[in-house]
Amino acid sequence: MTADLIIRNVRPLGGPTEDLFIRDGRFVAADRVPAAVEIDAAGHIALPGFVEAHTHLDKTLIGMDWFENRVGPTRNDRILADRNAKRELGIDARRQSARQIMQTLAFGVLSIRSHVDVDTEIGIANIEGVLETREALRDLVDVQIVAFPQSGMLPRAGTLELMDAALKAGADIVGGIDPASIERDPVRHLDAIFALADRHGKPVDIHLHEPGDLGAFCLELIVERTRALSLQGRVMVSHAYCLGTLDTSRQTALIDRLAAERIAVMTVGSPSAPALPLRLMRRSSLIVASGSDGIQGTWEPYGNGDMLERAKYLAQRNGMANDADLDDVARICTFGGAEGIGLGSYGLTEGCFGDLVLVPARTLAEAVALTPQRRTVIRRGRVLVNGGELAGDLPSIE
Ligand SMILES: [Zn+2]
Repeated sequence: MTADLIIRNVRPLGGPTEDLFIRDGRFVAADRVPAAVEIDAAGHIALPGFVEAHTHLDKTLIGMDWFENRVGPTRNDRILADRNAKRELGIDARRQSARQIMQTLAFGVLSIRSHVDVDTEIGIANIEGVLETREALRDLVDVQIVAFPQSGMLPRAGTLELMDAALKAGADIVGGIDPASIERDPVRHLDAIFALADRHGKPVDIHLHEPGDLGAFCLELIVERTRALSLQGRVMVSHAYCLGTLDTSRQTALIDRLAAERIAVMTVGSPSAPALPLRLMRRSSLIVASGSDGIQGTWEPYGNGDMLERAKYLAQRNGMANDADLDDVARICTFGGAEGIGLGSYGLTEGCFGDLVLVPARTLAEAVALTPQRRTVIRRGRVLVNGGELAGDLPSIE
């Protein structure tokens, strides 16, 4: 249900105050909204809906008993613990994904790309669970589902076939994982992933944690395959830690190659890897998105999914304090994410979807630094969250 709406006295992206008009779910010019509900934004800023470009909806433990984390330090320790936890804790992907979506809706997250596990123990059950949630909450948030071989694909026979089944069942994107350290064969892994994408006509999103030369080599393989299959604008590399571990000239060369193929990079600003050269990335035409990764899960107990908090964290992680930089990290968590995951009609201008978040601040920098919580969230002209409180007519979640 959409309403015609006038939002008075609002600062789009921290600019001068003006009025915004929404009709039939989209921003329009003033004279096209003759009679409508009015909201006084009291001079607060408006951003388009936050974009969560990388999370794991199927594995959050929100609302479940506290998980005592005794997991070892390596990625393989974590993968094993994660697979065991799904079985032992009985994590219900449908219920848990709904909980995370409703939690982050209150922060203004209106678009989510979620990696969802596919493996030989659970098959595509988590994909089916998140698909169910997506359908149930389709009027509140847009969800993209990445079929993600978390436990590895080549070393675990049958996983590739399950990836294929996940895409047939409704997953939107082909996921990949560390082609060398987990898959042990970068060329074969990436050939398999890109072949799936080509056959199904789907985009690609690859978890790439590999550092230094190894990561750079994998990035080059990704660039080659993106170009060969004309997948420009449809490939994302998540994490890309190697960009933080190379010297400046190699960083620049790789960033230019990624930008030339319109390959997006998603960074969460991980504390366990060297910071990516965010200013260098943003000065080039590279598409940069951000996300929370897993929140409150078996990998890490941290995070709440607030993308404005994430923007602040990115700034802190990169030693940023001036207003222009804070403005820029807010744009990474909105426009950068939107471009990275391929959203259309995104923004606060005429013709775009009538989606916005009102944040009690006067500039983007103030919003990032203070991350005020009493936000108002509007989607397609419908008020979903008012002053931090979910509207009474939203579906209740177990
Ligand atoms: Zn991830």
